[in-house]
Amino acid sequence: MNTIGTTILGSPRIGPDRELKRAMERYWAGRIDAAELLAAGRSLRTRAWTGQRDAGLDSIPSGTFSHYDHVLDTAELFGALPERFTSLGLSPLDTYFAAARGVQDAPALEMTKWFDTNYHYLVPELGPDTKFTLTGSKPLDEYREARALGIETRPVLVGPVTFLLLAKSTAPGFAPLELLDELLPAYAELLRRLRDEGVEWVQLDEPAFAGDRTNAELNALTRAYHVLAKAQDRPKILVAGYFGGLGRGLGVLARSPIEAVAVDLVTDQSFVDAVAAEGALRDKEVLAGVVDGRNVWRTDPDRALEKARKLLGTAAAVSVSTSCSLLHVPYDVERETSLDARVKGWLAFARQKVDEVVLLGRALREEDADLAAARGAVADRATATEVTDPRVRERLAALRPEDAARPPYEQRAAAQQAELGLPPLPTTTIGSFPQTTDVRKARAALRSGELDEAGYVATMHTEIERVVRLQEELGLDVLVHGEPERNDMVQYFAEQLDGFAATESGWVQSYGSRCVRPPILFGDVSRPAPMTVPWARYAQQLSEKPVKGMLTGPVTILAWSFVRDDQPPAETALQVALAIRDEVADLEAAGVRVVQVDEPALRELLPLRAAGHEAYFAWAVRAFRVATSGAADTTQVHTHMCYSEFGEVLPAIDALDADVTSIEAARSKMEVLDDLSGAGFARGVGPGVYDIHSPRVPGVEEMADLLRTAVAAVPAGRLWVNPDCGLKTRGYAEVSPALENLVAAARQVRAEQ
Ligand code: GLN
Ligand code: ZN
Repeated sequence: MNTIGTTILGSPRIGPDRELKRAMERYWAGRIDAAELLAAGRSLRTRAWTGQRDAGLDSIPSGTFSHYDHVLDTAELFGALPERFTSLGLSPLDTYFAAARGVQDAPALEMTKWFDTNYHYLVPELGPDTKFTLTGSKPLDEYREARALGIETRPVLVGPVTFLLLAKSTAPGFAPLELLDELLPAYAELLRRLRDEGVEWVQLDEPAFAGDRTNAELNALTRAYHVLAKAQDRPKILVAGYFGGLGRGLGVLARSPIEAVAVDLVTDQSFVDAVAAEGALRDKEVLAGVVDGRNVWRTDPDRALEKARKLLGTAAAVSVSTSCSLLHVPYDVERETSLDARVKGWLAFARQKVDEVVLLGRALREEDADLAAARGAVADRATATEVTDPRVRERLAALRPEDAARPPYEQRAAAQQAELGLPPLPTTTIGSFPQTTDVRKARAALRSGELDEAGYVATMHTEIERVVRLQEELGLDVLVHGEPERNDMVQYFAEQLDGFAATESGWVQSYGSRCVRPPILFGDVSRPAPMTVPWARYAQQLSEKPVKGMLTGPVTILAWSFVRDDQPPAETALQVALAIRDEVADLEAAGVRVVQVDEPALRELLPLRAAGHEAYFAWAVRAFRVATSGAADTTQVHTHMCYSEFGEVLPAIDALDADVTSIEAARSKMEVLDDLSGAGFARGVGPGVYDIHSPRVPGVEEMADLLRTAVAAVPAGRLWVNPDCGLKTRGYAEVSPALENLVAAARQVRAEQ
């Protein structure tokens, strides 16, 4: 059997120096032409392929590059872009970008999270009339391009079932999966053309099967791979499942006449046993995904080999791979110059993971493989005093149930009303105000050393005072300081907490040209000093009105960081929660009477399978409550979430027991309140009435109408009036009139009560 051998399921594509981001943005700004943009992509692909070849991978993926998003690439490939883009008369490249970013009169495709990662994909829009034809040639072009470099590659595509499951229906009562029989011939045609080119293996990704799937969906998987495998002229087919075990999908793939299956043996540690027990894999190659594609830790070679060896003898061949594409990790840890040397020794980014795969592949084949360095790094991390802080451990062990509980809401609400004396329908904002050039410049100048600490503090104070005065003039009831000192709501805290490290070049694509640089949570977390108190104190003493202290919650801090894999997230979250709990206490001592703990990522970490939800909610809720329940009855605890479709998260939001929850609702026209009132949500709630994602300034009547809808579901005494989210991406030209209208709308509806 001609096997795949060692490989990775995909690689980062934005460029080690974010070259693709820069090229895209220049192209959009009209500063370079299409040829230059395409050249930038070509050069990144060449670097990726030659690097992987030189590292010694047996099989190198192609087609994992994208000018924006791989799901959009798939829709384009099969001629499934909505007509509102194809009718614009633009070049194929500009049509593609129009779908990604929107143009006047043709709003972009929706964007949503790629499974439980921080990557966002563009949601295809499919209806009963959608016709698929192989109109694009990206997989063929990239295969040829690599071939011209002398590199044989394995084209990678989103699989047909996952593609349809990720799409959004454009017609009521219609499920895109109904299009499977339409779509399969287009895939088969592509496979035939790839084979004509000389492609030996093709990889079809079906990560949708890491989640719970219905019988109909499993049948679709069966059907898809029987149809595709039946095609006469085709490359050998590898189907990749990742982001978790394949569940019943494993058996389906095992019984399909395909040649290889890639399995994620990292996310679900017990999945390896299911794979080993799957007798029907005997005639297939299995790619053992033992190198974590989503996290940054060096692989423990012995644990990885133990898993891979369990599969030996159960499949026709066993090779080593990553658990998923390396899209989710930064390029190269060697680029980091200021990381603590010891911590750096524990890390593997994409380049290092390729080396790990090659090394483990050799060891699995019992070829010469020196595992000493890998073992040494893992042992060093396991015993490092930087990782384990006995004081944190003791505090955690001493936590009692009452540390996660506050007195009943009614008692708190009365105490808070006496303390704050707020009117019905109180007005507030979510935290950040527009980040002006002065503010950004001051932060950069502090970093580069051009501005000293005193100069920086003075600039921030001026900004905070301006924002506080503006809110007083506008007549808002609960003020904020505007968050000018924050680069990012997680990074700001990570930089100040022990147990976190920051990277310089650790960029990861979030969507399109947007990248994030997640902090690395490597050790027990503690707070050496207050993180927000001086700013909050300064802001509060400027005004008679309450100014909210603004914090980020433990779940969101975990969700947007690379988190340690040597203890359960529940424990890590509690450590972060204790640090926040101390910050809340210090804020209270500084005279702050309202504290907001943002948890916009509460839904993000929700496990893909329902079986994991309860355990997740238990730790997520406990962490939030430990963070907030040290607050006095008189302290009003707010939280904030940036989405409106609560669904399964609703009971958890309720269980957070925050006094006030602000949520996104402007775009969903208050439909969210049906959910909330139906669920008996009986505390303060602030459904956003101002959509901050748009430059539009909403009018007084428009917001008053939303509030009138809202008071029908939530009594005025518990209804808050606020925007959907923070204002940092907007400009004052929009924000000032919008908030003026918001206050006017609140007053109007207040008077009607
Ligand atoms: N307090 C944060 C802000 O206003 C919340 C951001 C968010 O929810 N993503 O910017
Ligand atoms: Zn938000």
